[in-house]
Amino acid sequence: MNRRYVVHVDIDAFFASVEVLLDPSLKGKPVIVGGLPHERGVASTCSYEARKYGVRSGMPLRKCFQLCPRGTFVRGNYRVYEAFSEKFFRVLHSYTPDVEEASLDEAYLDLTRCRPLYPSFTAAARDMKCRVEKEMGITVSVGAAPNKIMAKLATRMAKPAGFFEVPAGGEENFLRGLDISDLPGIGPKAQVVLRMLNVQRIGDLWGLPRPTLRSLFGMGGEEIYLQSRGIDARPIVTRSKPKSVSRETTFLQDLWDERLLLAHLAYLCDRLTLALREDHLYAHVIEVKARYSDFRTEIKRRLVVMPLQEMGKIYKIAEELFRELFASSRLALRLVGVKAAELVKSRPLALFEPYSERQERLGQALDRVRGKYGFGSILTVRERMLDSVYDFEPRRGFILKTASLTK
Ligand SMILES: [Mg+2]
Repeated sequence: MNRRYVVHVDIDAFFASVEVLLDPSLKGKPVIVGGLPHERGVASTCSYEARKYGVRSGMPLRKCFQLCPRGTFVRGNYRVYEAFSEKFFRVLHSYTPDVEEASLDEAYLDLTRCRPLYPSFTAAARDMKCRVEKEMGITVSVGAAPNKIMAKLATRMAKPAGFFEVPAGGEENFLRGLDISDLPGIGPKAQVVLRMLNVQRIGDLWGLPRPTLRSLFGMGGEEIYLQSRGIDARPIVTRSKPKSVSRETTFLQDLWDERLLLAHLAYLCDRLTLALREDHLYAHVIEVKARYSDFRTEIKRRLVVMPLQEMGKIYKIAEELFRELFASSRLALRLVGVKAAELVKSRPLALFEPYSERQERLGQALDRVRGKYGFGSILTVRERMLDSVYDFEPRRGFILKTASLTK
C-alpha cells in the first residue's frame, strides 16, 4: 500500500513573531497582538513570553492586561501579516504542488506524489523547516505523519520551533497516551460522557466497541472510532478545487426565538445540500456562523472523517454547533450562516459506513420535485416553522412577507 507522507507546518505565534521582527527591541518580551489594553476585543496572538503569564489568544484584552501588565500591546496590521503569509506559501509551494493553505500561517503538504524528488521525506520536511525559518526570520513548528489529523497532532508535539514525525504504523503508539480532548472529534460534551466512563486517554477509547460509541454519540461516535485509530483519508485541498459552499441569511431585525433560528438553519442546510448534490460534492467540514446584535461574529466548525452530503446529517451537526454558539452568547442574532468546506468529489467509502442508497435516492427525488414545482413545494417540518414569517414562492424560495432578506 502506498503510504502518504503529509507535512503540517505552522508558524509559531505568527502575528507576535512578525511584530518582533519589525521591532527587534521587543525580542524576548511578552507581546500581545489584537489591541490596546483598555480596548474591547480579544488577543489574536501572543508571544511565548506572554503565554508564561497565562495570556492566551482569544482572551479579552483587559484580562491579558491584568495577567501581564508589563506586556507590549499592539493593534497589529493585517496587510503586513498577509504579505508575510504570501512569502511563507511561496517557499512551501517550491516543495510540492500539493499544498493546502489552511490559514494565514498554517499549511498541509502532501509529498507522496513527489517521491522521486526526495530520497528521504524526513530530510525534505526538515529542510523545508530550515528554509522557511531562514527566509522569513521567524520559527515554525513542523509535524509529519501519514495523514492530516496525525500531522497536525504531531505539530502540537513539536511546538515551539520543533520537528516531530509519526512514522507510518506508529499511529497507535503515538495516540495511546494523548488526552481525549486532543482529538478534534471529541467536543466538551463527549468529553464529559467519556470521562464518566473513565476514558481519559485516546488509548482508553480502543476498549469501547464501535456500536457502543455509535449508541453514545451517533455519527460523532463513528468519527471518534476512526480518529482514535489515526484514520483520516481527507486529501490535501489545493486552491484550484472548490473551497467551500455556504449559505447565510441576514435578518431585518435581530432574532431571538430559538425555534425560528433553527428553522432558518434548516432552510440554509437544505439549500446548501442542494448545491452539494448539484456539484456531486461531499463535505469534510461543517461550519456555522453567527453574528450577534453587538456585531461580533463567531464561527464553530466540526471536522468529519466521513464526508457528508445528506441534509439530515449536515443539519444535525449544524444544529449542535449552533446551540453551542447560541447558548454561550445569550444575545440576539443578526445573521446565521452554514458552510460546507474541505469538499471532495467521491462518495464516502463503504469501509467507513454502509452507504445509504435510500438517502441518496431521496435527495434526487427531492430535487426532481422541486425542479418542477419550486423549492417551497417540499419542506421539512422545521422549515415549515417559517410559514408565519415568510411566503414560499415557487422557484424563489422564502420571501419575507414584508421584504426580501435571504441571500
Ligand atoms: Mg500558528
